[in-house]
Amino acid sequence: MTDAHHLNVDQIIAREGQYLAHNYHPLPVVLTRGEGVWVWDVEGNKYLDFLSAYSAVSAGHHHPRILKAMVDQVEKLGVPSRAFYTEILGEFAEKLCALSGMDRMLPMNTGAEAVETAIKAARRWGYRHKKIAANQARIIVCEGNFHGRTTTIVGFSSEPDYRADFGPFAGGFDLIPYGDARALEAAITPETCAFLVEPIQGEGGIIVPPEGYLKQVQDICARHNVLLILDEIQTGLARTGRDFCYQYEIDRPDGLILGKALGGGVYPVSAFLTRADVMEVFNPGSHGSTFGGNPIAAAIGIEAVRLMHDEEFSQKSTKIGEQLTKGLSALQSPLIKEIRGKGALIGMEIYAHEARARTVCERLKTKGLLCKETHETTVRFAPPLIITDSEIEWALEQIADALQEIGASHT
Ligand SMILES: *Cc1c(COP(=O)(O)O)cnc(C)c1O
Repeated sequence: MTDAHHLNVDQIIAREGQYLAHNYHPLPVVLTRGEGVWVWDVEGNKYLDFLSAYSAVSAGHHHPRILKAMVDQVEKLGVPSRAFYTEILGEFAEKLCALSGMDRMLPMNTGAEAVETAIKAARRWGYRHKKIAANQARIIVCEGNFHGRTTTIVGFSSEPDYRADFGPFAGGFDLIPYGDARALEAAITPETCAFLVEPIQGEGGIIVPPEGYLKQVQDICARHNVLLILDEIQTGLARTGRDFCYQYEIDRPDGLILGKALGGGVYPVSAFLTRADVMEVFNPGSHGSTFGGNPIAAAIGIEAVRLMHDEEFSQKSTKIGEQLTKGLSALQSPLIKEIRGKGALIGMEIYAHEARARTVCERLKTKGLLCKETHETTVRFAPPLIITDSEIEWALEQIADALQEIGASHT
């Protein structure tokens, strides 16, 4: 049992079960190839990817420009580490700074690492600029947040499953309700160095805050000399109909965290961006990453941003969102409680007494549409931004059929 070609689907799944940690609960489909919005399983069945790796594959699978940027760079120079300069890293940073209006960038690999970077920057800035007493700095975060899986980050999660028996946790975080600007103002103390928040809570269930929220929290943060740090790992890079979701309301935050789509769907690339006076707290030796900012990551990141502009992903995202929302609402399914989201990041909330979101995803899989639930009752739709109108129409038909079948089987 060593050659994958001799294993059937059940055997492949069983082998993962035997040799991997069980920290995921995948849908029972074994993928082997991807092209654009489509992926294929080992039996040759074709599926529309309506998750795009939680927004990491906005450019679609196997995008020729991403692949070319990656391969060209690998052939020249791979991972020299940051012990040396490379030609391309400055270009990547310049591009991200120009795009976001930030002064400086610090490259990492995964989203969680970029969040950790933001936490370190905020605390040091708090001590050195805001003159907070040693070890007293606090960061305000929101209930329902998702910022990654490190022990520091799950330590301030409000989700019991993310935390249980992983303590002791780092202190210095205060939880407030999401979408409530007055709760922020009330929670700020002289020790508060930053407010870390997602413009839309993705893993939290595609939770969109009230209109004006970001503008309000920006004003509050400015008044209290607190850094507003936005985690746009999932919402950024055109997913919600703007290059960054915050552009619906504010010109720029004090700190910005990017990941997922920055890697073009092929490589882990993340970054923390901020003002010069904040980033200045890092000196040689204070932070780093062996792979962070390597030339392959930089080449892919540059191309992912170029592609986003050349193919007008933000406009596409808005159109996708309109077509999907309209189509889902028109279904008038008694199972659907709510459709919410922005651009091509949409949550379909199912009535808990009707079905579990997982059941919907399993049914959609049998129809050739791949989605993933988030929590018990929300199905997340986040297709690649290169999807066409007719592909969306096809997806809507599968969703209509799946909901109808589930509704029928249950009455
Ligand atoms: C996915 C995600 C992260 C974590 O990114 P990883 O690359 O999985 O570490 C952090 N914040 C948000 C908002 C995310 O969606």
